[in-house]
Amino acid sequence: ALLLGTAGYYSIKALEKASRPVYPKDQRKKVVLLGSGWGAMSVLNHLQPDQFDITIVSPRNYFLFTPILPSVTVGTVESRSIVEPVRKLILKYHGCDQVQYYEAECIDVDHKGKRIHCRDVSGIQGTVSEFDLDYDILVVSVGADNNTFNVPGVNENCYFLKEMNDARTIRNAVVDLVESASFPGQPEEEMKRLLRFVVVGGGPTGVEFASELRDFLREDIPKIYSNIKDHFEVMLIQSGDHILNTYDEQISDFTEQNFNRNHHNVEILTGTRVIGVEHDKVKVLDKSSDQKSTIPCGMCVWSTGVAPKQLTRQMMLKIQNQKRGKALLTDEYLRVKGAEGIFAIGDCSTIEQNLMLEKAQQLFEMADVNKDGQLTLDEFVGLIEKAKHKFPQIQLFFSKAEKNVKKLFAEMDTSGDQALDIGEFKNLLRTLDHELKSLPATAQVASQQGKYLGKLLSKTNANPELLRDPTDALKSRGVYQFHYRHLGSFAYVGDNKAVLEVPVFGALNGWWVMWLWRAAYASECASTRTKVLLVTDWIKSYIFGRDTSR
Ligand code: FAD
Ligand code: MG
Ligand code: MG
Ligand code: MG
Ligand code: MG
Repeated sequence: ALLLGTAGYYSIKALEKASRPVYPKDQRKKVVLLGSGWGAMSVLNHLQPDQFDITIVSPRNYFLFTPILPSVTVGTVESRSIVEPVRKLILKYHGCDQVQYYEAECIDVDHKGKRIHCRDVSGIQGTVSEFDLDYDILVVSVGADNNTFNVPGVNENCYFLKEMNDARTIRNAVVDLVESASFPGQPEEEMKRLLRFVVVGGGPTGVEFASELRDFLREDIPKIYSNIKDHFEVMLIQSGDHILNTYDEQISDFTEQNFNRNHHNVEILTGTRVIGVEHDKVKVLDKSSDQKSTIPCGMCVWSTGVAPKQLTRQMMLKIQNQKRGKALLTDEYLRVKGAEGIFAIGDCSTIEQNLMLEKAQQLFEMADVNKDGQLTLDEFVGLIEKAKHKFPQIQLFFSKAEKNVKKLFAEMDTSGDQALDIGEFKNLLRTLDHELKSLPATAQVASQQGKYLGKLLSKTNANPELLRDPTDALKSRGVYQFHYRHLGSFAYVGDNKAVLEVPVFGALNGWWVMWLWRAAYASECASTRTKVLLVTDWIKSYIFGRDTSR
């Protein structure tokens, strides 16, 4: 059966390949991908070979599996285990001569002339170190920078956790701090300062880094540095009231309790804003009491969300119709507003959202099937089906449970007649619009957008006519607006425990979730090579402990 299955699989593949139209090389549209992260590599994966003339431009010649990056900061996992060279991915998806890659950064986009300008970032002085590329389709997936909120001293004194080098720098600094703290005659006060690690930002990245650090300090340090083992402390600062506040409440409670159990050495400061960072201390403001205080520390890691990169900012200024927001504005087909042929995905982009309230009358008429000027629950449910593509807030609101629909309907029916009139309906729309948040800056979003865009380009053959007004032309080809499907969020919370939130099951936590977490990431890793490396690292650090050489 296995043999037959395998044979069947490969013959289907071969048939698929044979039935695919072959595009002569000079008729292929030029597709340029900016970036080698989650977004761009997912587009690459979903474009058919032989259909386009594809070029990738990225200063980083590898893909980085970011969800495991916090584990690299303390050596649970080695850095080589979570990267995959771009050229290997090209080979895997397309065969090596089909796709060009240039290790350079794009520094200018001429959206009218459909041409980009690129520059070598390696510092090598070649005859050519800057060059131009023409494109028919440009996919911008350059990611984002760290958001410092202009807090003084952050850029100069904080560590970030975004790229591989950041993780390596942190790993070295942690080891250096531990070594310096154990110098002879080091005063106890100073020992405590050196071994106090402050993490700013209670999102998944901040929490995972704090967890890894805590594990390292508890599991490995006592064995090798017995003199300092009682002095370290990890402090997690969050300006909101809860950590992991985008997750289910149960998850953030579990995580806080897990940290708070007194022997765990992680202290959480919520409702606290950082107002300045110096090389040896963090200044904070307690939001409820308005009290300022100073926390001496050896290291401050900053992880509070995303801000646009230089190139993104420049494009927003140059292209008309771009509001000066935090990211490139696209429509639901991921087309950058005001620039034909350019698409943007991932952390550098945001989808413009339609407010339902502005279309209240129209929506009401659409929903009111029997035209009696009232909406019954059934009519309202029908509307949800019809409008969900155009107004994602409907789904965001109702994704958690069907019963929410009934509940909201009853709440909004203030007259209590089991029906909504136009006034009640408008209030309901206001509530739904309020739910509208832009999609989170996650790998899950970026890779789904990449997959969508790959299909969109393949199905239209990047035909400019079709892409100009995709609505009807694409429906017949089965392409609709981009629609995000949240598959769930994992976070490692330390002490061999992880949390998981899935739309169908809700919040889950515990040691077995950590194994699920590991299995999920191991199976998602880009290649067999990285899978093997990753699993080996986990086993190695479990058996032998983490490597404390810098
Ligand atoms: P990136 O993946 O950041 O890729 C950007 C690419 O563009 C890079 O290759 C960069 O070199 C390149 N580039 C930059 N400037 C230029 C230029 N001028 N020209 C050309 N190329 C350029 N998400 C999850 O869903 N789950 C998680 O568990 C998770 N954990 C995370 C942990 C950490 C520590 C971090 C930092 C992020 C995590 N994320 C997670 C978020 C996720 O990594 C990002 O949302 C995702 O990487 C966004 O993909 P992207 O393609 O937009 O950008
Ligand atoms: Mg990318
Ligand atoms: Mg985005
Ligand atoms: Mg009616
Ligand atoms: Mg009513």
